[in-house]
Amino acid sequence: METIVLYPSPGMGHVIAMVELAKFILRRRPSTAIAVLIAPPSFNTGSTAAYIRRISATVPSITFHHLPQVTVHDFSSFPSMESVIFHVLRRSNDAVRRTLEQISASAAVSAFIIDFFCPSLAIAKELRIPTYYFITSGACILAFFLCLPEIDETTTESFRDMNTSLNVPGIPAIVPAKDMILPLLDRDSSDYDDFVKFSFDLVKSDGIIVNTFENLETKALRSIREGKCNPGGRTPPVYCVGPLLDSDGHHGGDNECLRWLDGQPERSVVFLCFGSLGLHSAEQLREIAGGLERSGERFLWVVRSPPTADPRKRFEPPPPELERLLPAGFLERTKDRGFVVESWAPQVAVLNHGAVGGFVTHCGWNSVLEAVCAGVPMVAWPIYAEQKMNRVVMVEDMKLAVSMEAAADGFVAAAEVERRVKEVMEAESEVRKVVEVMCQEAKAAVSDGGSSIAALEKLLDLWTSRGK
Ligand code: UDP
Repeated sequence: METIVLYPSPGMGHVIAMVELAKFILRRRPSTAIAVLIAPPSFNTGSTAAYIRRISATVPSITFHHLPQVTVHDFSSFPSMESVIFHVLRRSNDAVRRTLEQISASAAVSAFIIDFFCPSLAIAKELRIPTYYFITSGACILAFFLCLPEIDETTTESFRDMNTSLNVPGIPAIVPAKDMILPLLDRDSSDYDDFVKFSFDLVKSDGIIVNTFENLETKALRSIREGKCNPGGRTPPVYCVGPLLDSDGHHGGDNECLRWLDGQPERSVVFLCFGSLGLHSAEQLREIAGGLERSGERFLWVVRSPPTADPRKRFEPPPPELERLLPAGFLERTKDRGFVVESWAPQVAVLNHGAVGGFVTHCGWNSVLEAVCAGVPMVAWPIYAEQKMNRVVMVEDMKLAVSMEAAADGFVAAAEVERRVKEVMEAESEVRKVVEVMCQEAKAAVSDGGSSIAALEKLLDLWTSRGK
């Protein structure tokens, strides 16, 4: 029997997307054995562990291999969370090799599929295992990473010091270099080096699998396949297999906010949620509250505690003290049309609830795909990672979102929140029409005869013929 080995980086979104890829493979080839390497527990929050237990119990064809603990003594000595992830995964490479050897001893490994944080391509090459990158963001980010080696070679400046826009084929040329993926801004940082190393490895892989679908990102995909992002170099084949979303996410369970939504009129509620790591300052939270109150719209708002100096708390901030954080009397005054959730809401179930008509999002790629699949128009309010680049593509190219405009220091005024919330809730807006069409396209892509099924079938044929 053949085995496909998947290696996500830590973080719920990455693990879920890989497991969904595994389930997609199993739906097409039920007899495939799938092994998933789980990065050391230094990073796995409690919810990831619970998720893995649930998948182990319900999908027996997937075997999880937990890599040994890598102790990180001093989180504060790392410049960013990304640098900790790169460090831990680099230190895990010996364990990755041992696990791959052990799996290969009993079954041919037909493919090793790795996340972009996983620096394990060289090991797989030594073991002669075909290796594919799985990009959990969109093709627009892939286009950028394919350009990065050339940008790195032809400039000496840090992105944060460039007063130009990024020239990435397939992406509107209006993304300021300063809006680059946050940990890449400083050329002298270890993150910058790690991402550049990844971008060099990317083009040496056997293929690139992307959690997107052909009709969502036509321009970026065309530029990539025409070799424009990596001129003179090799661009591996690109396979769009998305949207791959948490298939259990629709069952939000017995949740108070879903019960509250049951009592609201059709498409009347704007949902505000900022990913697994999006935090706002106390001042910004008060401003959002002011904007929501003035808008008069119904709202469901996930509120987290503001950031603290302790980097570990970024993954699991303490519960927010709502009465203290929000303006005096806000909760009481808006209780008939608003619902504030502490820290976490079942987002997929919320977006698919008939009462939700708009979504203020941090532009994390899973959130974008989830909104598209639910047919909900967005207000783009990027916070971290590659989200500023996503915003440009969502607003300018895909036309699925309007942009929340911030001052130069990133602060968004209550009047802007009010304006954008009203705009996204308009019943007959252009963005709503576009999202509804794209929602159908997304469903078609993963239905029989769809582009994502065709791409996965191509891969499966390749992997099966290798085993023969
Ligand atoms: N999510 C959720 N509830 C929350 C916040 C996030 O269910 O309160 C889920 C969301 O549905 C998505 C994932 O967490 O599947 C966040 O992934 P995304 O790529 O959007 O952003 P990230 O957290 O990776 O920045």
